[in-house]
Amino acid sequence: MITVENLHRHFGGFHAVDGASLRIETGSITGLIGPNGAGKTTLFNVIAGRLPPTSGRVTMDGEDITGLPPHELFSKGLLRTFQIAHEFSSMTVRENLMMVPEGQHGETLWNAWFGRGKIAAQERELAKKADEVLDFLTISHLADERAGNLSGGQKKLLELGRTMMVDAKIVFLDEVGAGVNRTLLNTIGDAIVRLNKERGYTFCVIEHDMDFIGRLCDPVIVMAEGKVLAQAPPTAS
Ligand code: ADP
Repeated sequence: MITVENLHRHFGGFHAVDGASLRIETGSITGLIGPNGAGKTTLFNVIAGRLPPTSGRVTMDGEDITGLPPHELFSKGLLRTFQIAHEFSSMTVRENLMMVPEGQHGETLWNAWFGRGKIAAQERELAKKADEVLDFLTISHLADERAGNLSGGQKKLLELGRTMMVDAKIVFLDEVGAGVNRTLLNTIGDAIVRLNKERGYTFCVIEHDMDFIGRLCDPVIVMAEGKVLAQAPPTAS
């Protein structure tokens, strides 16, 4: 479980996050909604270690993780994705998946190649895992496509795939549906639900599409002006 207690993040005199408190229960798909400028992305950035908080506390399963850098959070299984997908555009989809850090030990394919020499067995293992991930996401047909040629929604699926390469525990997804067509948005939603149910992922999702939020998320947290206005309790469904 992630808890956020009385979190503040100020930019000069501006209080982008202004005393936010919330809980993200393990095993949930928690939605985070609110108008533009509510402080959702800033909150994500603070939780995920990209911005230090001005004050307040973040814990993960009781452990204080406030202000830990992204790579330390990553080693605990906490990841965030971005509004704009960060793919290596000239590499194929499979190669993109193979480039993510492997396992929970900070060991990267890059290290494997240049630090300790190229290890063919390890590469084969990564390629196999990448193919399993593509199969899970139903995008095996895109394995050899250059990532730069993917649509916005397909890039989002690739980002989800990257989290699977490292067996993430909790994933923060920022505006997963922005600019994505309805069919692909459903595919992404299905992948999120299956990762949650079959792989035990916890998600926290910022999204403006209320159909998507309503279908996927429980509970839903509402933010405005840097504060949490409401956290709807999980329903019985
Ligand atoms: P949301 O994701 O809910 O749209 P943001 O967290 O992106 O909200 O932004 C909250 C407010 O904080 C906005 O008014 C934004 O302009 C401001 N803000 C965000 N980042 C910075 C920054 N680095 N410097 C100054 N102001 C910022």
